[in-house]
Amino acid sequence: MNFPTTLDGIYLNGQWSAGPAHLRVINPATEALLTTVNGGDEQAVDQAVTAATQAFPDWSRTSGAERGAILRNIANGVRNGREQLITLQSSNNGKPQFEAAIDVDDVIATFEYYAELAEGLDAAGDTNVPLPSEDFSARLRREPCGVVGLIVPWNFPMVTTAWKLAPALAAGCCVVLKPSEVTPLPELELAAIIAECGLPNGVFNLVCGTGLAVGAPLSADPRIAKISFTGSNAVGVQVMQRAAETVKGVSLELGGKSSLLVLADADIDLAVELACGGGFFNAGQMCSATSRVLVADELADEFLERLRKRAQAIRVADPFDPEVEMGALVNQAQYQRVLGHIDRGLSAGARLLCGGNRPADLPRGYFLQPTVFTDVPLDSALWREEIFGPVLCVRRFSTQAEAIALANDTQFGLVASVVTRDAATADRVANELQAGLVWINAPQVIFPQTAWGGYKQSSIGRELGPWGLAAFQEIKHVVRAV
Ligand code: NAD
Repeated sequence: MNFPTTLDGIYLNGQWSAGPAHLRVINPATEALLTTVNGGDEQAVDQAVTAATQAFPDWSRTSGAERGAILRNIANGVRNGREQLITLQSSNNGKPQFEAAIDVDDVIATFEYYAELAEGLDAAGDTNVPLPSEDFSARLRREPCGVVGLIVPWNFPMVTTAWKLAPALAAGCCVVLKPSEVTPLPELELAAIIAECGLPNGVFNLVCGTGLAVGAPLSADPRIAKISFTGSNAVGVQVMQRAAETVKGVSLELGGKSSLLVLADADIDLAVELACGGGFFNAGQMCSATSRVLVADELADEFLERLRKRAQAIRVADPFDPEVEMGALVNQAQYQRVLGHIDRGLSAGARLLCGGNRPADLPRGYFLQPTVFTDVPLDSALWREEIFGPVLCVRRFSTQAEAIALANDTQFGLVASVVTRDAATADRVANELQAGLVWINAPQVIFPQTAWGGYKQSSIGRELGPWGLAAFQEIKHVVRAV
């Protein structure tokens, strides 16, 4: 695919423009420069928030049906641009095309789901609240919370955007979106599609740029009612601190250190497939990566042997290779970070079962072999910190109570997976795990209808489902003397 040398990185009030920040966009599979995006700074953020603030009174009064129709237009626009979006995402992010296709289909499903919820708002209307007094009546209204700032990461650029943007627009909010400076290309294309879908000027605005130049002023702007952020814990804390100064709401989707529990009666082949999916999909760059694998003593030897064989057989290749199973990591910084984790894990005494290096047939690009460690010390960074790369840490356990305690022993609580043939045990273990989403014998399927978010330091709030819509609504009670 040929890219223009430069791209405008600002869309505000219905107009594209170039800002002063020159963001170099790299193809991680080749290390080649794809293009330069001319993104914005504090001034562009100020203008975007002004445009959104001016558009808000009219947009907030549109009916749910009007907003739903536009969300359906966006879903159809994404469907029509599906191939282009897949190509852009694989080129910019390094993920295989089949993974990028899953992302694009998720974006379509998310916009369609929130179109339905928006349309339902008209019929639902205000609701009466029964009171213990005949002298008063009360009704409950849900209103859009205002102008919102959406800040997203690079690992699932379009998906994390859709999970925020679709419910924000459905609720009647106006939006300023800040994509990751690492992966702006899919978002720029998405913005180009949205620009054709009938939104009034100023309702949707986008400013590409770095976290400090764009994300920080967006988080601090007093006209913003809410910041919805997905990214690292370190930055999430900074966003929350800035937002606190003007008491704006925050939704945070942060890191994870999740576990896959393989119980003694598990189907070993299924467990191996789920371990590989949970550890190596998106080259492990997932907040939901089940990077800790806890396996019952009874089948640990057999499981490890099959896992090693499967991991070594995974085809690491260019995202456009038709046989590819795992693509490249997103950039040099992330690549070095993951290699650093591997080195420190070895120094801490962890045993490398397989992987740990660049594949011999891929001298360029940020490629890493699927990597599995065993005997990982419980106090090592490898066991405790989010690695965000294709690295699994396997530990044996002798009782289910021990497995649950190991899984819960982390500051995070995003997801977990359980593999067992016993339905009652699966439910009991799922209920004991401190995680926002638990999969039983299932890959990491996500539906717009089910909540996304975690316990402890993984999240504040929930995305998707009606909770994702409620996150962009204020609650108003009107109480009347009868
Ligand atoms: P990051 O925190 O470095 O960046 C996320 C976004 O914040 C980017 O757009 C970045 O430019 C912006 N940013 C950086 N500094 C900022 C500042 N001071 N103020 C405001 N914005 C700023 O994260 P990343 O490296 O892009 O993504 C990886 C992280 O995202 C991982 O920790 C992962 O677990 C997390 N993540 C979480 C979820 C979830 O749903 N819980 C989903 C995907 C990724």
